[in-house]
Amino acid sequence: MSRSQAAKADARTGAALDVERIRADFPVLSRRVHGQPLAYLDNAATSQKPQSVIATLDRYYSEYNANIHRGVHTLSEEATAAFEDARRRIAAFINAGDAKQIIFVRGTTEAINLVAQSWGRGRLRQGDEIVITGLEHHSNIVPWQMLCEQTGAKLRVMPITDAGEIDLDAGRKLIGPATRLVAVSHISNALGTINPVAEIVRLAKEHGALTLVDGAQAVPHLAVDVQALGCDFYAFSGHKLFGPTGIGVLYGRAALLEQMPPWQGGGDMIKVVSFERTVYNDLPYKFEAGTPHIAGGIGLGAAIDYVQQTGLDAIARHEQALLEYATAAALRIPGLRLIGTARHKASILSFVMDGIHPHDLGTILDHQGVAIRTGHHCAMPIMERFRIPATARASFAFYNTAAEVDRLMAGITAAQKVFT
Ligand code: PLP
Repeated sequence: MSRSQAAKADARTGAALDVERIRADFPVLSRRVHGQPLAYLDNAATSQKPQSVIATLDRYYSEYNANIHRGVHTLSEEATAAFEDARRRIAAFINAGDAKQIIFVRGTTEAINLVAQSWGRGRLRQGDEIVITGLEHHSNIVPWQMLCEQTGAKLRVMPITDAGEIDLDAGRKLIGPATRLVAVSHISNALGTINPVAEIVRLAKEHGALTLVDGAQAVPHLAVDVQALGCDFYAFSGHKLFGPTGIGVLYGRAALLEQMPPWQGGGDMIKVVSFERTVYNDLPYKFEAGTPHIAGGIGLGAAIDYVQQTGLDAIARHEQALLEYATAAALRIPGLRLIGTARHKASILSFVMDGIHPHDLGTILDHQGVAIRTGHHCAMPIMERFRIPATARASFAFYNTAAEVDRLMAGITAAQKVFT
């Protein structure tokens, strides 16, 4: 796509960003797939990385690779300083009160498992309830099912409407005196629904229940303020936020984290060890046993710098414009049915086609250089709710353009000709 074509396409969406300049920061976006320019529309699965993040990882490994916290030599001190500086920038990014509330984990999945095991296992018993919603990713379902098996607690699920929104009226009836924790996604990865998490947190608090927000899909798209939300835990993954894989964050309320036992034992999470007794380390290290993903933490800091320089408000405006443009175009295609039509949505377009399996559509689009995701998106209960086996899902980031949306729609129309 030429610069002028892109500018024209972005004018159609009313884009506020210099998308062509941004695209130049992401090396992979200039590659070709099957001889066609890549249109990467699978950002909800993982996002691409700007050169600044790639260079940060390269610099760490080429210039100051060392283990952290334990060394007195220069490289170790430099690595420790960079890692802890990243933690502080991440804390500021989500407005956590203190960097010690930022626990580095592998990703959202590990963050939720940490809470389930460290907070839940020793506390819950028969008669207690955990409330989730019908919109959750498997990683915000299965850890709670495991916890229920371990403790005798019960899992309850807020239903969702035909539009793919949480049915709050029904949800209100589920949250009560037996509720110990409400765990909800901020944005649904399968449908794009932006959930009313502040309201759900308020409801949970009225009944003395704790709240965990799965922010995996939210942090790349909207400004998150954990203190304004009032949640007890917030989890997200670096790789969906233009950072490295294998690194993520659990934010927790400090008083709560202080009370929770460590969930893994090993190096760095201790102050003193003898065969008789171990004294655990302070926050956040109490929850970070073993050598962490040092490059990943530093790289995530660089990714957050990039997002902040770009500006989350401008990102949200561009993505909303792209979503509106794509939704209108999709609705003009006969035989295409959108799955997920919530009033408040992030830039995710999930759909099914008459007579074409999503996997076949995905393969045809790949041959045109258009990368989308097909399948159940690790949210099988949502597929069951809509009585479908799978959807095709295009998910947009701030580096995507209206011209790429046009290519997606042209590819869908071409696939229809093959199959009908
Ligand atoms: N929650 C949501 C809403 C997601 O979209 C994902 C990943 O797709 C996850 C949790 C799990 O994230 P990870 O695999 O990075 O742990």
